Amino acid sequence: TLQDRLSATFKGLRGKGRLSDSDIDAAARELRVALLEADVALPVVREFVAAVRERAKSPEVQQSVNPAQRVLDIVNEELIAILGGEARRIRLAKTPPTVIMLAGLQGAGKTTLAGKLARWLRGQGHQPLLVACDLQRPNAVNQLQIVAERAGSAFFGPEPGNGVGDPVDVARRAVAYAREKQHDVVVVDTAGRLGIDAELMQQAADIRDAVKPDETLFVVDAMIGQDAVVTAQAFLDGVGFDGVVLTKLDGDARGGAALSVAKVTGRQVMFASNGEKLDDFDVFHPDRMASRILDLGDLQTLLEGAAKVFDQQQQEDLTNKFLSGQDFTLEDFLGQMQQLRKMGSMSKIFGMLPGMGQFREQIESIDERELDRTQAMIQSMTPAERRDPKILNGSRRARIARGSGSSVSAVNDLIQRFTEAQKMMRSMASGGMPGMPGMPGF
Ligand code: GDP
Ligand code: MG
Repeated sequence: TLQDRLSATFKGLRGKGRLSDSDIDAAARELRVALLEADVALPVVREFVAAVRERAKSPEVQQSVNPAQRVLDIVNEELIAILGGEARRIRLAKTPPTVIMLAGLQGAGKTTLAGKLARWLRGQGHQPLLVACDLQRPNAVNQLQIVAERAGSAFFGPEPGNGVGDPVDVARRAVAYAREKQHDVVVVDTAGRLGIDAELMQQAADIRDAVKPDETLFVVDAMIGQDAVVTAQAFLDGVGFDGVVLTKLDGDARGGAALSVAKVTGRQVMFASNGEKLDDFDVFHPDRMASRILDLGDLQTLLEGAAKVFDQQQQEDLTNKFLSGQDFTLEDFLGQMQQLRKMGSMSKIFGMLPGMGQFREQIESIDERELDRTQAMIQSMTPAERRDPKILNGSRRARIARGSGSSVSAVNDLIQRFTEAQKMMRSMASGGMPGMPGMPGF
């Protein structure tokens, strides 16, 4: 796979005292493919690769202790620099309300984002008002109203029974209403079209002129890949924007759109949406996106998610147990599995691990029901059985199969796999690596 080739190239370079021009060219070629594969727009790829190549040939790199590692670091640094370094925060107006306007194509995720922003803003102590200025789609006003309710936020829309209404008028009245009712942040949801459209741009520009937003956010679906650049440029010309929100990052998009849009428009990605639920939302982390683009995995996000979910005490107990040479039991396994699954679906969790991009198909085929079955089998065991599977004779196994709605052979299979894993853990705990049979550990 591509990732293999890229790491192989860099591995080949690693440890070399000096990089020849052809080493650097080979690495640059792989980098180019990696970026194109991640859906970064071609002109951006060209410029990026040229910049990295230039730096790679500089004395700074050639004289470093490990030039190949230095090149990798440079790739990462350059990615982060384009993505904006540190995440920028919302600029609040000196005199409230702060007006945030959302713009983007239909289906980009603006209305969903409005709800996410509202919840996030509430978490920061603000009193947001969500304003429905998408009067194009019949159900759009209602959709925003529901989202606002869910986010516990106030809502402002066109007066019912007033015909279609004028979005500019609604926006203007909403800001006055916010001032009166002490809502300190106004989030204006606007209409989108499936394609770039002059009338739509004009409408958004009119709303902008009427309410003078403190922040106009361009909302873009990460899955549209290469097209993101064209769309972003059109919105920059037609409406203008201050920041970008990337949505649907929970899909398999590698995030090249973030790099392209940031580079071409000079506007920073500020937030990332990664799911349909209100909490699937975070400020944007350039360093994590850099790793994602290079498929180094989103380990940091994963680890933070784990830190939130894992019970600290239970983890410490487990580590101590492990270090003192006691066996890892099925009871421990069940606990771990339950904690892990609190973080989300297994495929989501695996998707965030480094290098997993190449296993996309397998990950998508992870069968959550299979995990349910495993969990059910362990739950059908008595505590004594969980601690010591050796006591699981035929009749106990049959009872567990019945209790969990599975078959005896599934129970056998689980016990066998677990016993093997336990053996491996034992050899790790006794200081050796679980390496290949017959090979001494180190
Ligand atoms: P709008 O037309 O720009 O207002 O887009 P919507 O907010 O109505 O979203 C369009 C669709 O995308 C809806 O089905 C949303 O549930 C879905 N959606 C929005 N954001 C995300 C996201 O981050 N991840 C996923 N998977 N779906 C999303
Ligand atoms: Mg909408």
